Amino acid sequence: MRRLSEPKTVIVPQYSLIIPIYNEEENITELYRRVSALMDQLDNSVELILINDGSRDRSLLMMRELHHKDPRVCYLSLARNFGHQVAVTAGLNFARGQAIIILDADLQDPPELIPQMLEKWRQGYHVVYAQRIKRHRESWFKRFTAYVFYRLLRRLADVDIPADTGDFCLMDRRIVDLINSMPERSRYIRGLRAWIGFQQTAVKYERDPRFAGEVKYTFRKSLSLALNSLIAFSRVPLRLSIYLGLFSAFLSACMALLVLYWRLHQPDSSLTGFATILIAIFFLGSVQLISIGILGEYIGRIYEEVKGRPIYALAEIAGFDPYS
Ligand code: UDP
Ligand code: MG
Repeated sequence: MRRLSEPKTVIVPQYSLIIPIYNEEENITELYRRVSALMDQLDNSVELILINDGSRDRSLLMMRELHHKDPRVCYLSLARNFGHQVAVTAGLNFARGQAIIILDADLQDPPELIPQMLEKWRQGYHVVYAQRIKRHRESWFKRFTAYVFYRLLRRLADVDIPADTGDFCLMDRRIVDLINSMPERSRYIRGLRAWIGFQQTAVKYERDPRFAGEVKYTFRKSLSLALNSLIAFSRVPLRLSIYLGLFSAFLSACMALLVLYWRLHQPDSSLTGFATILIAIFFLGSVQLISIGILGEYIGRIYEEVKGRPIYALAEIAGFDPYS
């Protein structure tokens, strides 16, 4: 038995693995099997942080069991479903390692890629992101929308966010400390990560299909993430209303000239009448509505930020004793 005076062995993990989980009961056993094989290779100086994002299935129970079985497993449980980016944020807040790795619970991000990422980290890179060169068995709609979105974002965003990268990445402690110090509520981690800079590099991989279960990122959630990222990293949409306004001003000037021409040269033309006025009204109305809508999106976000609510509420936490 250990005497009280004996100093407690202090194991501060060198590596943290962060995995957000939302109704993934079918994946957790296999996930743990593959991730623990990797953890065994990492001299056990590793913590596995599972974040329960308000799951309604057995995910939390399974996380508790894993924690009791394996002390390297810690978990956080959010009080409701806050969304993937917030769940990852919570994980980043609690991670204690020097190299922090984020991956999905559905095994679409192969844990076997991590040694390669660690190798780059040891070479001195601060961020090693995984870049998809292929997606296996995902619908053409998802592939197409993702393709268009990443290219659009690259054109519009103020920072250079590499295309076809997700949240699967390794980040150095310095980067994570910086991300944690960013108070913004609308969190697009890939964007924040790119904004920071330092030495960043990619490792390429083929994205596997989901191991089991349904996709948790519904079309609505993906659309909202896409909008959030565009608005958080670009002011081009705001400028769009100026362009639209200028364009409509130009069109109305042309129309005025045309009408004048018809008045003078073809007094009985039908185009001078009612229809022209209606078209002009509808056109201007839509330009104004679009502009107000864009403004509204930005103002809505300002409102979210100034409210200053915490980003998430924690219901349960285990395994984060100061020294384990
Ligand atoms: N996820 C989450 N909260 C959500 C939606 C998803 O924590 O509201 C987790 C989910 O459990 C998974 C990861 O985020 O570990 C990615 O989700 P999914 O596989 O559905 O998305 P996709 O692979 O289509 O990006
Ligand atoms: Mg997935």
